[in-house]
Amino acid sequence: MKNRATPSFEYILFDLDETLYPRECGLMTAIVERILQFMVHKVGIPADDVLEKKLSYNQQHGTALRGLMHEYQIDPLDYLAFVHDINLADFLGASPPLNQMLYDIPLRKIIFTNADHLHAERVLNILQVRPHFEQIIDITNLNYKNKPDPLAYQYVLDTLGVPGERCIMVEDSPRNLLPAKDMGMTTVLVGGNGPSIAIDYAVPTIFHVGPVLKNLLMRQGH
Ligand SMILES: [Mg+2]
Repeated sequence: MKNRATPSFEYILFDLDETLYPRECGLMTAIVERILQFMVHKVGIPADDVLEKKLSYNQQHGTALRGLMHEYQIDPLDYLAFVHDINLADFLGASPPLNQMLYDIPLRKIIFTNADHLHAERVLNILQVRPHFEQIIDITNLNYKNKPDPLAYQYVLDTLGVPGERCIMVEDSPRNLLPAKDMGMTTVLVGGNGPSIAIDYAVPTIFHVGPVLKNLLMRQGH
């Protein structure tokens, strides 16, 4: 716990994929498979090259989409529809514990995702937690300036009309928490380890976020 004076929290920003549901369910693996298929069949990149290209796009641009837009001027909506054309029921189902945990968090809840809102809506609906979120800020809202581009975080703060200090961000990617921390947000890493400079709390699963927040908010007089 950092010993600093912080104004009361107002918002909690949740990443979507592999934050609200566990990596082990295999959904992102299926999405990555669709991304690779898109690169081969829609863009015409040789199959032997796509994996390496995707990794380098992720490193350079944060997402394969942004790399493909930069290098091949692809239609992002075409890409997003293709890569998310997956039967979610094969991977996810209703999560009453997540529903309860979200219900107990007394902050305004936002989804902040590098995916598109259609995918986000489908995931939230199948988890049966959609009503908790007052807004979904997706890749199209961000004008494809995705996390970890600092512009994405600035867009979120401008949209919400609050300074970073009033936000908590929950994410499975340590890299995506760095700009959040830089902008004054309190950061919670789910399911991993990251640079301590950017991570205020690290928890093994999304279900551990509730107890951590409860302590944090109590200390802040919520
Ligand atoms: Mg994620």
